[in-house]
Amino acid sequence: MRIHFSSEQEAFRAEVRVFLEPYRGLDGFFGQGLKWPEVRELFRAMGERGWLALAWPESAGGLGRGPAWEYILWDEVAYARAARNPLSAGIVARTLIRHGDDAQRAEWLPRIRSGELHFSLAYSEPEAGSDLAGLRVRADRDGEHYTVQGQKCWQSYAQDMDCFWLLARTGSPDSRGRGLSLFICEKEREGVTVSGLPTLDGDQLNAVHFDAVRIPASQRIGPENGAWTIMGEALADERHIQFPPGRVRRDLEEMADWLREAGLSNDSAVRRALAQLAVEVAEVEMHGLLVLDAMQKGRPAAAAAAANKIAHTVACQNIARAVAEFGGPAALMAGSRPDLLWRHALWETIGGGTTEIMKGIVAREALGLDARG
Ligand SMILES: Cc1cc2nc3c(=O)[nH]c(=O)nc-3n(C[C@H](O)[C@H](O)[C@H](O)COP(=O)(O)OP(=O)(O)OC[C@H]3O[C@@H](n4cnc5c(N)ncnc54)[C@H](O)[C@@H]3O)c2cc1C
Repeated sequence: MRIHFSSEQEAFRAEVRVFLEPYRGLDGFFGQGLKWPEVRELFRAMGERGWLALAWPESAGGLGRGPAWEYILWDEVAYARAARNPLSAGIVARTLIRHGDDAQRAEWLPRIRSGELHFSLAYSEPEAGSDLAGLRVRADRDGEHYTVQGQKCWQSYAQDMDCFWLLARTGSPDSRGRGLSLFICEKEREGVTVSGLPTLDGDQLNAVHFDAVRIPASQRIGPENGAWTIMGEALADERHIQFPPGRVRRDLEEMADWLREAGLSNDSAVRRALAQLAVEVAEVEMHGLLVLDAMQKGRPAAAAAAANKIAHTVACQNIARAVAEFGGPAALMAGSRPDLLWRHALWETIGGGTTEIMKGIVAREALGLDARG
């Protein structure tokens, strides 16, 4: 694999870096809920440049650029710690572009593109995380509406978002993935309740209750009972911007700085650990580029993306753990940078699919193994 970014792409990277200058202190990558007004402003400013629609087709209001441009953008944003890539411009918009009708595209895309409208992903439930096909929240058709009933759990950013990208059962209780449909549900609809679930970093995930919530049938995206395939396509479209290596690069740089400032960087054990972690970060970078390479060539990238997620999130944990070990009590003080990184790193291997599930994907897709024999 040889990836060379073109001179236009490198110029774009330089432009992104200049754009991000005022946001370098924002730290919105972590605890986005605590900094949402500022992160929303950042997304608006990106929207003004068309960057939230960088790879959307021009016919949908996008800039029609390839995956490498998006990779560069979100890698730089992650390195700057400014924000995580928004679901609205990714999964939601890509699905609307592929599967929405003209009226749906006209209604939702312009506000997503401009950074006005934001979504929280309402997939997981208390009894359905890894086994998403077993979810129970129901949406029953009643004329020109659906009535939604049930509870979702662990919704990131739901406290600040405008809408839910809701996955609900429209088929029979045992229909698994064949009986699911996707909806847009505004948070303000009657019967929607969002309750915070405090997280280790002082931010929150959320439980979301839908109590007889009526959603117009025109807000079902794609065919009834057809969500499973659609979701897979949307995920496949943005594998190259999930888990950008810039985040891990920055973790290591910050931790090396912290150890230097703590007077520990001449310790030979510390230097050895930092060298080992630097190799791990280089591996993470390679995994990210492998995903990009597959995307650019139009090859399946599920296994590469799963391997990338494992390498990325485990590296985050290894970096945070090493500093906690070497830094002693000062590294564990509430509010210290190592402490914050450690609290964040703990959950990275769970959100977006656990390490065990990612290993299962690599085993099946890359190694041809199947637990069922
Ligand atoms: C920070 C964070 C943000 C999140 N954001 C969102 C969000 O915005 N929207 C949303 O809908 N959800 C969100 N989630 C939920 C997340 O998708 C689920 O937590 C995740 O899929 C795991 O599901 P679970 O918690 O039900 O655990 P379970 O699926 O019950 O897993 C429990 C344990 O069993 C293991 N396990 C399960 N099945 C298998 C298997 N087949 N093979 C091997 N091991 C297995 C798992 O690896 C895990 O160790 C978020 C979670 C976190 C931590």
